[in-house]
Amino acid sequence: MKRLGILGGGQLARMMALAAAPLGVPVVALDPSREACAGQVVPLVAGGYDDRAALEEFAGRVDVATFDFENVPAGSGDWLRSHVEVHPGPGALATAQDRLSEKRLFRELGIPVPAFADIDCRDALARAVDEIGLPSILKTRRLGYDGKGQFRLRPEMGAGAAEAAWDALGAQVDRTGLILEGFVPFDFELSVVAVRSRDGDFRTWAPTRNWHVDGVLSASLAPAGLDPELEARAIGHARRLAEALDYVGVFALELFCRDGELLANEMAPRVHNSGHWTIEGAETSQFENHVRAVLGLPLGSTASLGHACMLNWLGAMPDPAPVLAQPGGHWHDYGKSAREGRKVGHATLRADSAGELASSLEAVGAALDRHDQVAPVLEKLRG
Ligand code: ATP
Ligand code: MG
Ligand code: MG
Repeated sequence: MKRLGILGGGQLARMMALAAAPLGVPVVALDPSREACAGQVVPLVAGGYDDRAALEEFAGRVDVATFDFENVPAGSGDWLRSHVEVHPGPGALATAQDRLSEKRLFRELGIPVPAFADIDCRDALARAVDEIGLPSILKTRRLGYDGKGQFRLRPEMGAGAAEAAWDALGAQVDRTGLILEGFVPFDFELSVVAVRSRDGDFRTWAPTRNWHVDGVLSASLAPAGLDPELEARAIGHARRLAEALDYVGVFALELFCRDGELLANEMAPRVHNSGHWTIEGAETSQFENHVRAVLGLPLGSTASLGHACMLNWLGAMPDPAPVLAQPGGHWHDYGKSAREGRKVGHATLRADSAGELASSLEAVGAALDRHDQVAPVLEKLRG
């Protein structure tokens, strides 16, 4: 078996490595931190993403490289590509690293997007706020994740909104670029997690309904209970994107749905938090299919196994017992130290019917005192 290298050693790398093990694929991860949680399950090369000595050591130990972290500097990606195979390719990575190029590509492909404007100075922001209106969101073009690097311009801020947004993020303009987006008062959010093989085999898991709190994913539900036409449209968008980028591996397309319309928010050129439920809730998980795709192996079925709900654990791990007591309860502790707002683990509840899933979820929510986290999912399952 070829050896797999992962740039980034967080929980995504850790779950990829756990999926690679039964395939007999040896994995090495590169991460700037010696504490990176993938290091508990695979050997870690400790070094920065632009540290040539670390990249050389990493390249010497792997045949194919992929990403847990997409913001690896382009120069390092290029250097690696001249030494080992790397998937996804440079075009996909460059596009997905930049919210502006990502949105332009979506539009070119006929995938609707919220109103947006490139912001390169204070005046450009003032003009864009006049044009797009309030509410809107100012975001860094690059390097944002989990809602970081964003400022919401609220209607009650009135004429001071642009100034307040510039005060919050203007200092980033040279480093990351900025983009203003119209705020979409969506009915719900969904994502399509998809995989494409080197020979163009394209598959998606059941589109997933997602709930965020303060810009961070809180819960996911699959299947999402979508109208079949809407579901087909969402999958069509993901397919066009994959083909346009000649994509190899797993990616996620995040969408807002409003009045039956789908608007693309962003894509992630990697396995995705909203696909964690596939570990127990699908015939082949996103992690296994990503490993298969980048190594050139046949893809596995993405069929769902009943109904699944994933709950993210932020800050610190709760008591596992109430989840483990459920018939389809599964626990994932990433082995990270507790820190405010940090993703430290997740649970997946799986059941054969929506009714059984709701019962499990309600029991877990009550036992862990997580009523707010489970309430919207229960409402969807029972509504
Ligand atoms: P991640 O990569 O972790 O998904 P991120 O930092 O890239 O997050 P976004 O996906 O852009 O951030 O935004 C996080 C969440 O904030 C979205 O899932 C959505 O709930 C909300 N949000 C972002 N942009 C908009 C928008 N234009 N309209 C309405 N809500 C938005
Ligand atoms: Mg993002
Ligand atoms: Mg997002």
